[in-house]
Amino acid sequence: MKTYFVDVILPLAIAGTYTYRVPGEMNEVLAVGKRVVVQFGKTRVYSAVISKIHQTPPDRYQAKYLLDILDEHPVVTSEQLSLWDWIASYYLCQLGEVMQAALPSVLKLASETKIIAEEGEGKDRSQLDDREFLVMEALDLVPELRVNDIIKILGQKTILPVLKTLLDKGFIRISEEVVERYKPKKKTFVILNPIFDEPAAKKELLDSLERAYKQSDAVLSYLQMARTQEKISKAELLEQSACGSSAFAALVKKEVFILEEKVVSRLASPTETFLVDVTLSGIQQNACDDIKVGFKKKGISLLHGVTASGKTEIYIKLIQEALDRGETALYLLPEIALTTQIVERLRLHFGSAIGAYHSRLNENERAEIWKKVLHGEIKVVLGARSSVFLPFRNLGLVVVDEEHEVSYKQFDPSPRYQARDTAIYLGALHRSNVLLGSATPSLESYYNAKAGKYALIKLDQRYGNANLPDIEIVNLKAAQASSSVSPYFTSTLIKGIEQALKKKEQVILFQNRRGHTPMLLCATCGYSPRCIHCDVSLTYHKSSGRLHCHYCGFKESLIEVCPACGSTHIESKGFGTQRIEEELSMLLPEARIGRLDLDSTRTKNSFEKILDDFDEQRFDVLIGTQMVTKGLDFGKVSLIGIVNADSLINYPDFRAFERSFSMLAQVGGRAGRRDVQGKVIIQAYATTHRILEQVVSHDYEAMFQTEIVERKKFLYPPFFRLIRIDVKHKDPHLAADCAQRFARELRVHFGEQVLGPEPPLVGRIRNYYIQSILLKFSRASVSITKVKEVLKQNIVRYHLDKLNKGSRLTVDVDPY
Ligand code: ADP
Ligand code: ZN
Ligand code: ZN
Repeated sequence: MKTYFVDVILPLAIAGTYTYRVPGEMNEVLAVGKRVVVQFGKTRVYSAVISKIHQTPPDRYQAKYLLDILDEHPVVTSEQLSLWDWIASYYLCQLGEVMQAALPSVLKLASETKIIAEEGEGKDRSQLDDREFLVMEALDLVPELRVNDIIKILGQKTILPVLKTLLDKGFIRISEEVVERYKPKKKTFVILNPIFDEPAAKKELLDSLERAYKQSDAVLSYLQMARTQEKISKAELLEQSACGSSAFAALVKKEVFILEEKVVSRLASPTETFLVDVTLSGIQQNACDDIKVGFKKKGISLLHGVTASGKTEIYIKLIQEALDRGETALYLLPEIALTTQIVERLRLHFGSAIGAYHSRLNENERAEIWKKVLHGEIKVVLGARSSVFLPFRNLGLVVVDEEHEVSYKQFDPSPRYQARDTAIYLGALHRSNVLLGSATPSLESYYNAKAGKYALIKLDQRYGNANLPDIEIVNLKAAQASSSVSPYFTSTLIKGIEQALKKKEQVILFQNRRGHTPMLLCATCGYSPRCIHCDVSLTYHKSSGRLHCHYCGFKESLIEVCPACGSTHIESKGFGTQRIEEELSMLLPEARIGRLDLDSTRTKNSFEKILDDFDEQRFDVLIGTQMVTKGLDFGKVSLIGIVNADSLINYPDFRAFERSFSMLAQVGGRAGRRDVQGKVIIQAYATTHRILEQVVSHDYEAMFQTEIVERKKFLYPPFFRLIRIDVKHKDPHLAADCAQRFARELRVHFGEQVLGPEPPLVGRIRNYYIQSILLKFSRASVSITKVKEVLKQNIVRYHLDKLNKGSRLTVDVDPY
């Protein structure tokens, strides 16, 4: 019998793979991509993934035996293993870290994994074997067990296969925090009991209600509405009639009205039905054809189409064509844009062939999607960043919508990957077509397209020739004048809001700061309350009445007296969404206002609820942070107000202008998407800033031309590649020492391409002092593979050096 060895990837932040020896009886069932049970370290067991099967024993250690094989069929494909390899080497991280990010926890059983019993109505334990039964019995005694505990209880290392079976049979679940889920939207409809169908019966009913004024009003309103409407919702009826909810309830009790709960598409507002069979306009069809020519020639097409030009319909068409060819598709969207709006829009076309993958799923749902993609039951994945990790087969098309979105980049933890770039690699692995789409492409992608790497397709008109919004810039100085009603609102913006409300249209206000007051300042001595763990000032939150740190979550009570000098003259600097909400409700008390930011969306389903309520016009003004800029499509929004554009533009970052342009253009794009003419009012001090002028004239090309010159001049992407290295330490001097030493070593190899170290904008987070080193390499003249090889060796040496003990080092390739 042959002796086999397998290299396995462990779900740990360790370099490379480990080799295990295969017990002879397992030879037959070996396969790359299956999970195996291995012991690592003295006591820990893990489920690891086989990445290679061979016959070479490791030369530096004695290979342990595999304990078991978990899967009948591989759960990880060979393309995925290649993708993991690429990510590890491109983003300079450990293979195990990639696996951690890629696999849902359910597929990653390890010693620390916590297991709970699935609440079992009628779960029949008689079908379980002895060991399975023992696990369930243990779980009867305590609600939650770690895998390690179970191993101790049963005295068996090979418990993972038992747990896997129990998971598959639905007896147990992986324990986790409760996370928000998508809920289908239900609406209550009212039907008049058919016994009153005949006119005579109706008359009798109304007569009987003669003395119940409110109830008869409800019935009359219903009859009135039924003339023009096929379906009447409870909400509409209550709005139209003066009956009130108790009279309505009485009618339901009497069975005059019958209620019917129905799942409705979140898209179909009462005034509009959604077309399932969309025929592309001539312009869209041309763009679609050009995209396909681009696929043939370059494999990658960039669709630069203004907001509401109908890009989504083109994606749907191309996805349909891929499915018709028997292929599958991935449609990537930024997390926040992944609302039920878009999910249902696609579900209307693709039904159950679609799977949505995003952070609001729990681990069990994630695992389910993983399996369905693997088995080809899901053919279209609509997903956020991490969906690039799914086990695609026969992938024919990858769409990256809003490809400019900064949130495609994962900041923390490692792997710090860029999902758009990873998707492009994924496309190459599968030889599938890749379509990037945006109204404001990233400079990198647009540059690539112009340089001929991608095909470039333009869509300059809104669908149905809807106009692009008018954009007006107003000087915030006016708001500071003594006659002004508010320091935050110019009269132009207030009048605009009033007019929109009068016409029953809606308004979105964008302010890129959450909380109430970002900074308090003692007017006497200049003291300002700061976080005790981070180098940032604390933001006042009205809801909690406290000061919050936005970096670590630290909270402190509000100061009324300066702790430094005793003065009571505390001034506020800056303003967040809560302040804007407060101010506006004073200025326009009749306006119904909603707020969309990280704070208002913390609770379960709140994100969806706010959007739903806005969509159904339960409030008129939506105030929000950048969350409101992403791909929302509301028919009734006619005005967008940017409360303060300067804070965007003045952000100290080489991408600040590009980002300002796209945020302003994107948020402006939420206005006037259908029948109403949209208007955007931008408030700013620097009213003549070129970025604002380019936004007003919808001139992406001009923005690109000016920015690209700057990027070249100051050695930034797309001409240069950046790698950022952060050294962190609890002691500020040691942080500086470690960083200095590392920078010196790097300079030996890379000379002037090494910048820093210096502390970043926020120099301390969660008690760790940070020093950043920036590496800049010319794309044209430096081999990045060699660079990374050298860098990797240096990082290994860094960790071995005792002087660096207690410090942390993180590497960010292509940082944002
Ligand atoms: P984008 O993705 O470019 O912002 P959308 O695809 O959301 O634009 O289209 C904007 C609006 O126009 C949507 O309400 C959409 O339903 C409508 N629309 C786009 N293309 C068509 C079409 N071919 N037929 C009917 N309606 C369309
Ligand atoms: Zn003071
Ligand atoms: Zn903090």
